[in-house]
Amino acid sequence: MTYENVKIHPAVDGGVKAGDPNFAGGTLHCNCATDRVEVKVGGQTAHNHVCGCTKCWKPDGAVFSQVAVVGRDAITVTANEHKLKIVNEAAPIQRHACTGCGAHMYGRIENKDHPFYGLDFVHTELSDQSGWSEPQFAAFVSSVIESGVDPSRMDGIRGRLRELGLEPYDALSPPLMDAIATHVAKRSGALAA
Ligand SMILES: [Zn+2]
Ligand SMILES: [Zn+2]
Repeated sequence: MTYENVKIHPAVDGGVKAGDPNFAGGTLHCNCATDRVEVKVGGQTAHNHVCGCTKCWKPDGAVFSQVAVVGRDAITVTANEHKLKIVNEAAPIQRHACTGCGAHMYGRIENKDHPFYGLDFVHTELSDQSGWSEPQFAAFVSSVIESGVDPSRMDGIRGRLRELGLEPYDALSPPLMDAIATHVAKRSGALAA
């Protein structure tokens, strides 16, 4: 049995393309026809994955987003910064979105105590370049139901993700969950800092 017809995200539906280990960054642009917001990313991304949560930006019709991280110092807005607005100032990740087309250009954590402080979240499909790190797993898979996906579709969705080599998790991947728990344990004193 194959799940080929189950759509996940345009960047992976035709198969996951490996990133280029020598790729050193590039430019993202929003989807506006003119006056596009441009963001320079000064390095290769890491932990790229598809995400089923309701907060990440997804292209029209996609069930999952595709999202990666990069050091916050690597991000520079190089054009039309005035079009950016934070989607929700109260959210742990402040998603800077284009007010013209809705694309999220980068997500930033301002709380220095957050386990992922120092990393920005980016959608490398907003780049015309290839070589960005490839998605490696699927996060928050059950959450697609919160966006209106019928629960009866979940076997097909998880089947397709496995077929693509994107192991489905209902939270983040085990290494990232371990990183969060380690951060919490060091803060509480359960582990030596
Ligand atoms: Zn735009
Ligand atoms: Zn997400």
